[in-house]
Amino acid sequence: MLVFTKGLGFEDTSSCSLKLWWSSTTRNDEADFDSSLPLFDIASGPSLAKGWGWRDKLSIGGHALRWRLNRFQAPPDMSVAMLCRDLPAAVMSLLIEPLCISALNLTPAQASAQVFLRVMQDSLAGGAGSSDMLIPRTDLSSLWPDAAVHWLVQHGADVLTGCHVQSLDDYLTDPVVLACPAWEAARLTADIEPTWSAQAHALTHTAITTVYVKANQPLQWQSPVMALHSDAHAPAQFAFDKGQLTPSPEMQGVLAMVASASTHDRQTTTEAVLRQAKHQLGLGQASAMLTVAEKRAAFACEPGVRRPSAWVRQNLVACGDYIDGPYPATLEGAVQSGLHAVTLLSHKRMGENKA
Ligand SMILES: Cc1cc2nc3c(=O)[nH]c(=O)nc-3n(C[C@H](O)[C@H](O)[C@H](O)COP(=O)(O)OP(=O)(O)OC[C@H]3O[C@@H](n4cnc5c(N)ncnc54)[C@H](O)[C@@H]3O)c2cc1C
Repeated sequence: MLVFTKGLGFEDTSSCSLKLWWSSTTRNDEADFDSSLPLFDIASGPSLAKGWGWRDKLSIGGHALRWRLNRFQAPPDMSVAMLCRDLPAAVMSLLIEPLCISALNLTPAQASAQVFLRVMQDSLAGGAGSSDMLIPRTDLSSLWPDAAVHWLVQHGADVLTGCHVQSLDDYLTDPVVLACPAWEAARLTADIEPTWSAQAHALTHTAITTVYVKANQPLQWQSPVMALHSDAHAPAQFAFDKGQLTPSPEMQGVLAMVASASTHDRQTTTEAVLRQAKHQLGLGQASAMLTVAEKRAAFACEPGVRRPSAWVRQNLVACGDYIDGPYPATLEGAVQSGLHAVTLLSHKRMGENKA
């Protein structure tokens, strides 16, 4: 999945930003991109895409223009496949499919066109840097939760970690923000707000599997990330060189190969990714170190999906990537949802104070 973090305020030292490019070593067919090509800069990008015919370039340019003119809107029940049905096969397989799987964790046939277009809008019309890929230089704990806890403590909050909330009964005398995954939110609200709970419970989820692979020597890549050819037999879309991202000796030669929208069991995926590392990255001696399969990595942002609202009931709002909003299951969606939940509670407070 692409890191999709518009305006989240990364510190320069904690993440690196790079223009994503398709690897010319792994994509040795006719459709390589220039290494400086911003992925989403469709207006200029496809004109730089080596090997695309003029029909491909005209077609994606025309679609991008139409999306802009329509203010990036699509009917709620439309899929990405329907939205892009007139695009040539090369554009679909090299641009739209990887983008859709990365951002929505679903194939174009399964994914909501409306949500996909919102991702395109933020990337195409979001200003400088909007289509850059951000990769953390540090582990995700220090980047996100540890930093948040630090800020909260500095601002006078009590932070209790390792507490699994079993019931909301004891909390609802004060305003509560329910910030947990959909299935937990559904469980915690089942008795107090059954309709909201049922909607959260009804969401389905898709998996992301990360296979850590060890090469028999340090990698000599120019970039810490490679985009790969992906299909049913080669499930990983991206390979990350952990040696470049975490320059400790034990990480040299370690790759994280990420299979978004993965559908096979752990063993099958591991074997397929290992074959992919050998065939596409030339790592003949590579071995699998560890496979992490997140079965509920992202809620399925399908056409017409009904997401629960942030407002649950008096004194209780919910936030999370699955709450009704314009984004797919992303950090950006979760952050925006958190901000919205706080705004709702603040408005309620202000209303109470006025009354
Ligand atoms: C492998 C993987 C790769 C991803 N890559 C990207 C990416 O590149 N870019 C991107 O934008 N997004 C990515 N995502 C998605 C992103 O991680 C999520 O969209 C985001 O973390 C959702 O945030 P959230 O706050 O809604 O939920 P979470 O991050 O799931 O946080 C919910 C928290 O609630 C806690 N909790 C659950 N139940 C309870 C309870 N009963 N009591 C107390 N606490 C509880 C959990 O422990 C958890 O800490 C990825 C996800 C996965 C799994």
